[in-house]
Amino acid sequence: MSGGCQIREQAVLHRAAWLVPVCTAPVPNGAVLTLDGRIVCSGAFEHVKKESPPGTRGIDHGRAALLPALVNAHTHLELSGLKGKIPFPQPGFREWLGKLIEQRAHAGEALAADSLRLGEEELRSGATGLCGDITNGGRAARSGVTRVERRIFLELLGFNLPSIRAAMPEGPDASAAIPTPHSLYSVSSHIIAECKRWTRERGLPFTMHVAEHPEEIEFLKDGTGFCRELLERLERWDPAWKPPGKTPVEYLESLGALDADTLLVHAVHMSESDWALAAQRRCTVVFCPRSNRNVGAGRPRIEKALCEGVRSCLATDSLASNSDLDLFAEAGHLLDNYPSIDPRKILEMITVNPARSLGHTGEFGCLEPGAKAVMLAVAVEPEASESSLSAAIIESGRKGAWKWVSHQPG
Ligand SMILES: [Zn+2]
Repeated sequence: MSGGCQIREQAVLHRAAWLVPVCTAPVPNGAVLTLDGRIVCSGAFEHVKKESPPGTRGIDHGRAALLPALVNAHTHLELSGLKGKIPFPQPGFREWLGKLIEQRAHAGEALAADSLRLGEEELRSGATGLCGDITNGGRAARSGVTRVERRIFLELLGFNLPSIRAAMPEGPDASAAIPTPHSLYSVSSHIIAECKRWTRERGLPFTMHVAEHPEEIEFLKDGTGFCRELLERLERWDPAWKPPGKTPVEYLESLGALDADTLLVHAVHMSESDWALAAQRRCTVVFCPRSNRNVGAGRPRIEKALCEGVRSCLATDSLASNSDLDLFAEAGHLLDNYPSIDPRKILEMITVNPARSLGHTGEFGCLEPGAKAVMLAVAVEPEASESSLSAAIIESGRKGAWKWVSHQPG
């Protein structure tokens, strides 16, 4: 299946009933050969065995599917200390944000101290090897997480501020992260355009919350409602600002912010033309459907995105709006609530798609030569067929019937 294997010593040959590379078709009786934390060769067991050097250690995972570690495209690990503190569902975004502000103030400094460790544990128990993590402070931008890789985005706020520099929080490690605007109602158009220029120049992903709740739509159309009240209360309102009278996606288009490296997070309230535009510009959409339900934001039209050919990812968002950071649970939510979506597509949304969108193609999201040997063995029944395999993997995953196969940090 994969030729040109370059073999060195101390290799490990992993065999299982199924190999599920995700980026290519599943292989019955499949295997992966690993060396020094990387995949050297993958494919049919007999083929990979032949490529294995003398002294290779063999591990048989039996009735299992070998799968790449999952990739969570949108988390806020620094809010992990708020797990269980906000009851779900909330009636709407206004009420949820009120609870979040209250709980953050209550937790104070203690929240930041332990949240990264708690978040890492949640991700590990959610089968995740890489996340796209949003942080609000320079201190939290420092990677305290070692066993789950983080693509770190430093979230900027400042509706009345003119530049990244003006909005950048104090902190010694802020430069280690990718600057990212929070949303269209909390950051000025200058900062959004500058962030996009900054990331484009460096070939990095650009991510922001887009079309999450109806209040955002109203604000951009008329300049009224909860978002306006919030900005005035926080003394961030800009009296010179005029509503663009556009949808969030149209507004981003006018700022030159849509391209194949742009991740639109949430995308719950999208018009027909917004979907067409997102597809045309080859943007990625990151769906967080359980978070949307818990916050009372609405139900994203994931079927529509897939139908339009928009690259789609599934993510959990934070523990302030979700009960866990378990991507198998998020995928199971789709099995239950979006029955028309092909489970194979759902697996792509938690592996290869987010890996590509976060700029980690070739390292995560696919069991292929050169990728990190960060894999899962997910239990599957012997009668599983290729057509039922993806759903069976998600069902086993959400029941916790899986284990880490190999998980080397770095
Ligand atoms: Zn978020």
